[in-house]
Amino acid sequence: MSSTLHETATVPVDGGVPELTHWIGGRTTPGGSGRSGDVTDPATGEVTARVPFASAEEVFDAVAAAKAAFPGWRDTSLSARTQILFRFRELLNARAGELAAIITAEHGKVLSDAAGEVARGQEVVEFACGMPHLLKGGATENASTGVDVHSVRQPLGVVGIISPFNFPAMVPMWFFPIAIAAGNTVVLKPSEKVPSAALWMAELWREAGLPEGVFSVLHGDKVVVDGLLTHPDVRSISFVGSTPIARYVYETGTANGKRVQALGGAKNHMVVLPDADLDLAADQAINAGFGSAGERCMSISALVAVGGIADTLVSKIAERARALRTGDGRRSCDMGPLITRAAQERVSGYVDAGEREGATVVVDGRDVTPDGDGSGFFVGPTLLDHVGTDMSVYTDEIFGPVLSVLRVDSYDEAVAMVNANPYGNGTAIFTNDGGAARRFQNEVEVGMIGVNVPVPVPMAYYSFGGWKNSLFGDTHAHGTEGVHFFTRGKVVTTRWLDPSHAGVDLGFPQSS
Ligand code: NAD
Repeated sequence: MSSTLHETATVPVDGGVPELTHWIGGRTTPGGSGRSGDVTDPATGEVTARVPFASAEEVFDAVAAAKAAFPGWRDTSLSARTQILFRFRELLNARAGELAAIITAEHGKVLSDAAGEVARGQEVVEFACGMPHLLKGGATENASTGVDVHSVRQPLGVVGIISPFNFPAMVPMWFFPIAIAAGNTVVLKPSEKVPSAALWMAELWREAGLPEGVFSVLHGDKVVVDGLLTHPDVRSISFVGSTPIARYVYETGTANGKRVQALGGAKNHMVVLPDADLDLAADQAINAGFGSAGERCMSISALVAVGGIADTLVSKIAERARALRTGDGRRSCDMGPLITRAAQERVSGYVDAGEREGATVVVDGRDVTPDGDGSGFFVGPTLLDHVGTDMSVYTDEIFGPVLSVLRVDSYDEAVAMVNANPYGNGTAIFTNDGGAARRFQNEVEVGMIGVNVPVPVPMAYYSFGGWKNSLFGDTHAHGTEGVHFFTRGKVVTTRWLDPSHAGVDLGFPQSS
């Protein structure tokens, strides 16, 4: 398998950038719609490839291939299916560095962060390797005289996954290992900004022995999303992206009879109580505010300082923020570029607006000198103090390296602020007071909570998902909720009037 960026799944082009292909029915499929987009290295601003945008007809082709593969895959034994999952895991372990390099080249996040993303996705693959256990149903003997009852869970069929730019590998892996292990066939539409990680993983599946058509990758934009949302043979949609699109996907998908989980945007608060260890809090505010240049749905963007600690805490965070190196993710920097020029301009524009509206710019990333190409899309770490809840830097999801400090007098005010926010993805409290932490986890209206942990991303065997405008639908990603999402339950009630005999076989029983 060829393995590095744009060596795979491309159409050779004389004198131009490579053209990526779709991956349908287990092989590369050149785009046929005539529409395409640029893939850009955000650290240099250079266009590195073109990605085809599929037409509605190509959506039909991919779904048809997935539908054709479904009966065979569904009927493949659990042992055989999970052996392929184990092989995928082994291959991914051996080649994780290649995938991380592809992520850095298209997303921009620093290599160590990209490797961390791959590792968190791999945890879901490992969870899905336990599918035989996860799919076990219940059984009741003699529920009525001579009558037994048992339950099973069965795959849905063709399932669609639509993913955002900020986790090119991990977010698809929140879903597809579980969907595939449970016996479904998958059509993945990755973000058109970061298409190569999905293609690399498709080739890895082929090498792991996954039958053709079980995993397809279709690139594109709204045309593909709408095609999947309305196609009668697509049984479910797993979406991750911004809140307006998540809401649209949920409403359109469910109106078309599909099961939908649509994870949206975020505005995550870190509440620091007066008794907290302020050095720990400052370190973690830096990690969670500026990791991946703030382009994480679990980034901390609002730091709520309670009581009289704000001046000390702000100066500790500022000192650390000024020491960070922003630059090309391949050069051992702390923080990489933003995804596009438009994102760079949008983030800088928010800082301008915050300043106009009265916030204090303590650390200014707008004119950062990056360790990298001057044409990259860089904004350095930015710290705003005295932010109010009516300022756009607070009300909007900025999705960049901008940490806003809000000052309140009491714990009650802090919790009220978090709960009044329309998003409810993640939050954290920093304190040494167990009673306060216990109250917080009980009272706060947010799906994922950290106690002295700033980015509380649940392990694969728990489920990931927020509340309020951060998730539409009632099922979170991975963990047992993920298994339920990708399967349907059946309950079987049985009465046998005659005993049955399996014949004579002295061999040691084995699964097949
Ligand atoms: P986005 O909403 O712009 O795009 C997400 C997906 O939707 C992409 O595949 C894109 O091609 C598609 N899309 C874009 N516009 C569309 C339209 N008009 N109609 C149909 N489909 C459309 O999000 P993004 O910028 O790629 O990702 C960043 C966002 O994702 C942030 O808001 C972030 O908080 C969110 N996010 C949330 C989570 C979570 O778990 N809640 C995780 C990661 C990212």
